[in-house]
Amino acid sequence: MKSLWSDTEAAKINGDLEMRVYTSQLLGANPELVLHGGGNTSVKITENDFFGDETEVIYVKGSGWDLGTIEAAGFAPVRMNALLKMAELDQLSDPVMVAQQRAAMLDPSAPNPSIEAILHAVIPQKFVDHTHANAVVALTNHKGGEATIKEVYGDRVLVVPYVMPGFDLSKQVAKQLAEIDPTTIDGLILMNHGIFTFHDDAKTSYELMIELVTLAEEHLAKSIGSFTLPTAEASEDLAGLAAIRQGVGKLKGAPVFAKLDQSANAVGFASRSDISSLATRGPLTPDHTIRTKRIPAVIGDDIEASLAQFADDYKNYFNEYNKGETMLSPDPKWAVWPGKGVISFGATEKEAGIIQDIVTHTWKTIQITEAAFEGGWQALPARELFEIEYWELEQAKLRKGGSAPIHQGKVAVVTGSAAGIGFACAESLAEQGAKVIGIDLSPEIDEQMSKIGGIGIIANLTDDEKVVETIEGIVRDFGGIDIVVSNAGIFTAGAYLDDMEQSNWDKSFAVNLTSHQKLLKYTIRFLKKGLGEPAIVLVGSRNVNAPGAGAASYSCAKAGLTQLCRVAALELAPEGVRCNIIHPDAVFDTKLWTEENLKRSAERYNMTVEEYKTRNLLKTEIKSKDVGNMVAAMASPLFGKTTGAQIPVDGGNDRVI
Ligand SMILES: [Zn+2]
Repeated sequence: MKSLWSDTEAAKINGDLEMRVYTSQLLGANPELVLHGGGNTSVKITENDFFGDETEVIYVKGSGWDLGTIEAAGFAPVRMNALLKMAELDQLSDPVMVAQQRAAMLDPSAPNPSIEAILHAVIPQKFVDHTHANAVVALTNHKGGEATIKEVYGDRVLVVPYVMPGFDLSKQVAKQLAEIDPTTIDGLILMNHGIFTFHDDAKTSYELMIELVTLAEEHLAKSIGSFTLPTAEASEDLAGLAAIRQGVGKLKGAPVFAKLDQSANAVGFASRSDISSLATRGPLTPDHTIRTKRIPAVIGDDIEASLAQFADDYKNYFNEYNKGETMLSPDPKWAVWPGKGVISFGATEKEAGIIQDIVTHTWKTIQITEAAFEGGWQALPARELFEIEYWELEQAKLRKGGSAPIHQGKVAVVTGSAAGIGFACAESLAEQGAKVIGIDLSPEIDEQMSKIGGIGIIANLTDDEKVVETIEGIVRDFGGIDIVVSNAGIFTAGAYLDDMEQSNWDKSFAVNLTSHQKLLKYTIRFLKKGLGEPAIVLVGSRNVNAPGAGAASYSCAKAGLTQLCRVAALELAPEGVRCNIIHPDAVFDTKLWTEENLKRSAERYNMTVEEYKTRNLLKTEIKSKDVGNMVAAMASPLFGKTTGAQIPVDGGNDRVI
C-alpha cells in the first residue's frame, strides 16, 4: 500500500485541523482502508472557547461524513475534559454517551461526534487515525488471529480483544493503555474490527497506518502462496434475476433495486463448492452488519425456497438473541447466486451501490483469509453481530422512520419521453422516487432524462430487436421492471378517408398501436415479476371517445390502443399486473403547439387563445404536468384496485361524458 502524502500539497496547509482534513481524505481515498462512512480520525487542539478561556478540544469525525470527502465542518469539536471524565465512569449507555458528547461540544451546530470519540480522547497522541483495513481484518479474522498479529507486529502494537464499539470499547482501550507507556507503541489492533495508529505528527500517524497495513498485506501475500481469486463465466438468467428481486422486495415489504455483479471474480466466488459455508460466516468488520446484515442469501435452484430459507434463518437468529428489540424485515441485503454472480439490494440506487462496494471487499478478503490460514475465515459470533445490528441508536433511527416516496425502489420505463407528456410522466415518477428509463427516437432523450436522474435510451420502438435489447439491458442493470408508461405517438396529418395517403394510415398504426403491442409483449414477462402492484399505463386520446372528422388514422389507432389496454387488463389481472389508459385532451404546453399555431387555431373558433386553451367544462387549462401526475398516480397503490379503466384528463368534455 502506497502513501498518498504529497509535500507540495501539505506545504499549502495551515493549522492542525486543516492538516487533519488532509490526511483523513488520504485515508478515505483508499477503499482498502475504509468504505462509506467507515473509520474515523481526530486531532487534539488547544484553543480559546467563547469566553476566551484556553480549552483542550478534540476534533473528531462527525457521523454522516465520509473520510474521503470530509471537510473541517465534518469534525465535531468536543471538550477533552468531558470525554476523559466519561472514560472514568463505570457505566454509560450509548444514548446518554451521545447526549453528553453533544453537550460538551464547542459548536452545537457541528455533527454528532463518532461513537469512538472517547476512545480517541484516551489516546494521548495528538493525531489518531482509525480504519477497518481489509488486510488487517484478514489477519485477525481466523482461529490463530492473535498469534498472527504478534508475529507480524511484535511489540509495536497493543492487541485489543473484540469489544463492541462505543463506551465499553473505550473503557477497554483506556484500561490497556494505562498498563503500558503509550508513547512506546505505534498503534492498536482491534481484533475482528480494525486498526488505530497515532502520533503527534499528522504525516507520521498517517504513514504508520500505511506501513502497518502494508506489513499485513505482505504477510497475506506470503501466506496465500500461489492462490488467486477464482474466476468463472456467468450464464445469464434475467427472469431468475427478476424473480429474486421480487422475492426480496416482498420480504422487505417495499421495492428494491437489484445490482448484479457478473464479473469473472464475482461469479468465481459465487460458484465455489464451499460457498454456502464460506459466504455465511459473517462480515469483515462489525459495522458492515448495519448495511449488509450478518450474512447473504445463498440462491439455489429453487429461488423461492432459497429466499424463504433466508427469512426463516433470520427470524430464528432474531428470536435467539433479541432482548425485546423490534425485528427488522427479514430480507437479505445481498445474495450469492452460483453460476450467475453476486447481487446487492437497496431501496435506492445509492444504497445498492454502497452495499455492492462493501460486499465486493468482503468476498475478496474472506477468500484470501480462507486461503492464507489454517482453519480459514472466521468472523465474530452471531451474538456479537446481533448487538451491532440491533444497536440501541440504530433502533432509535428506525423508530423515527419517515415515509419513503411512493415509487421508491421501482423501475419505470417511459416511452416517447424526450418532451411533452412523456417527459412530464417521467418527471412525476422520478419525483416520487422511481428510477426512470426513458426511451425515445430523439437524441435529446439522454439529456432530458439526466435532468431527472434517469437514463435515456435512443431507440425506435418499431424495431423488435432494439426493443428486446433495451428491455433486457434495463433488467440487467436494475433487476426488473415495475411500471411501463407506453406513451410514444405521432399525430398524423389530417385527411379525409377518400383522400388519405396509405402511408399516413400505416405509419399511425405502426407507431400509435403496433409499437405499444410490441413493448407490452417484451415487458410483460418482467412486469409479472414486478414489485409494488406493477402497472402499465397507456396514453390514449380524447379522440377515442370523441373523434373528429379527418383524423381517422390517429383516432382508429388510439381506439385500437384502448382495446389493447382492455385485453391486457383481462390477461394480466391473474398475475396482479394492472393496465389502464388515460385519454388526455388539449395539452398545449408541449412542443407541438407553437404560439403561432395556437393563435391560428383559436381564431378558427373565433376565440381568444385563453378561451381556446380552456374550452372544456371545467374551464381549466390542462398542462402536461397534470397528465404526468395522473399517470404517476395510476401507477401507484392509489389506483391499486383499478384495472382496464379509461381515465380522461381533459377538463370535462360533454361528448365524452
Ligand atoms: Zn471502527
